[in-house]
Amino acid sequence: MSKATYTIKPLLFGSFTAYEKSVIHFFRGYGEKICTPSIGYLIEGNNKKFLVDTGPGTHDVMHALHPLIAIDFPEEQNVANVLAKLGIKPTDLDAVIWTHLHWDHCWNGEIFTGVPIYVQQSEVDYALHPLPMHGNVYESPACGMTPPWTKVVSQMKMIDGDFSLDDGIDLLLTPGHTPGGQCVLVNTTEGDYLIAGDTIMQYENWENHTYSAAHVNLYDFEASYQRIAKMDLACILPGHDWAVFDHPVYPYK
Ligand SMILES: [Zn+2]
Repeated sequence: MSKATYTIKPLLFGSFTAYEKSVIHFFRGYGEKICTPSIGYLIEGNNKKFLVDTGPGTHDVMHALHPLIAIDFPEEQNVANVLAKLGIKPTDLDAVIWTHLHWDHCWNGEIFTGVPIYVQQSEVDYALHPLPMHGNVYESPACGMTPPWTKVVSQMKMIDGDFSLDDGIDLLLTPGHTPGGQCVLVNTTEGDYLIAGDTIMQYENWENHTYSAAHVNLYDFEASYQRIAKMDLACILPGHDWAVFDHPVYPYK
């Protein structure tokens, strides 16, 4: 029997307006500031809906927690309003997937009442006990902060490695950027699409084979790149690249 096929919509959850480029492209672009979007992806098909990443919290709260980072998170780009504009209630979703638990990907879980949220166990473990330099990006208790996902622990489905989420949708453990980073492999009428999360933050990372300076292990990062390179993919959708908005829905051919 052939696999179910899906469409994928990129969703804009605000932007980082002056982000240090060398954080995204390790050893490149020092001092260069770039504007980069925060992105989620809506997967629809087979009479189901899935959301990959839930974006940051509201502008004022994020600014208070991360005052040194230049952000623009307008109300209309909060996940609740983005979904509402598409006529989707949070509870309409069959599942939410968090690619990883950096704060710009995993706020707002509490609006998805009763919806299972899939995340890697190794990511949860690290989010609770990160290296000191990663405390802030996880909003870790070690920094006196409360990680946003702790409000929805009862909904979280901790998985350990690759996981078949549904017919034609697979979660792939791709560590490097974080210990439990995962990509989402989606079957479409044009072949396999890979929603890469921050394993590939921008197309330039993939084209130049550059890791993000935000990482925990470069050997793991490289192994994840090698794994992705061996896959027969129709398209990669990265975590922070404006180019994905060139098409409102994928596949676009
Ligand atoms: Zn990240």
